[in-house]
Amino acid sequence: MATPVFRFAPSPNGELHLGHALSALTNLRMAANCGGRLLLRIEDIDLTRCTPEFEAGIFRDLAWLGIGWEEPVRRQSEHFGDYEAALERLRREELVYPAFLSRGEIRKAIVEHEATGRSWPRDPDGAPRYPGTDKSLTLAERRRLIDAGAPFAWRLDTAAAMARLNGRLTWREWGDETMSGSSEIAASPLDWGDVVIARREIPTSYHLSVVVDDALQGVSHVVRGRDLYFATSMQRLLQEILGLPAPTYFHHRLVLGPDGRKLSKSLRDTGLAALREAGATAEDIRRQLGF
Ligand code: GLU
Repeated sequence: MATPVFRFAPSPNGELHLGHALSALTNLRMAANCGGRLLLRIEDIDLTRCTPEFEAGIFRDLAWLGIGWEEPVRRQSEHFGDYEAALERLRREELVYPAFLSRGEIRKAIVEHEATGRSWPRDPDGAPRYPGTDKSLTLAERRRLIDAGAPFAWRLDTAAAMARLNGRLTWREWGDETMSGSSEIAASPLDWGDVVIARREIPTSYHLSVVVDDALQGVSHVVRGRDLYFATSMQRLLQEILGLPAPTYFHHRLVLGPDGRKLSKSLRDTGLAALREAGATAEDIRRQLGF
């Protein structure tokens, strides 16, 4: 059997908190239990929000927790060409289209629709789905707008992509960390609507770079928080239409704050660096998280 490959893939756009520690430690323990490898991937496609300081903080916090990783670390910002190649394939297969509606125009379309008493469909994160009106533009109209410098993003034609599949779209989800049992989950990418695949200012997107990298790095086990459970539907669709292998998944529990909500990077008091400065040891953190 091939060696299982796990990855911990934080974004350096804030400080790591207890939720990240849980994710990294879970990956480490699961990899160790099955003789697997653990990779660290820096998901820094958003060059305005990600900083070298936050990245250094990730290395520092993981080392402090006693978590090692293989070198070289893959930094997504150094691989835009790989995502561009995948985008090109989707473009060639006419599975993405240039979406010209601005945020304001999207909002206006939704307000007008909801004024008629009907609700607008939302994606699993609660954001309104893209109206998709520009799918009906002719090639000539698209070209004219692009040549005129109109800003646009490449969006997936999710329904068209679903129509290309043969058979059901599912993923395998482990029941727990021991990986003694798993179930097949039906993926429902249509819930997301036409997601952004690449933008002008960021020539890729979270979903596209994750599936390209997981495949390029040979990741066989994706272990991450429940907050990304529904994202798996979209990522499975992209894997299928790009001809990439499907990893197995385990979505672990989230660490909740005192208000019962999931931790965010702005909650300074649960940041690992802040806890360390306040005197916590790595052992304290592990114990607090049940390791
Ligand atoms: N970079 C993502 C995050 O920090 C995680 C990506 C993933 O695990 O798929 O939330």
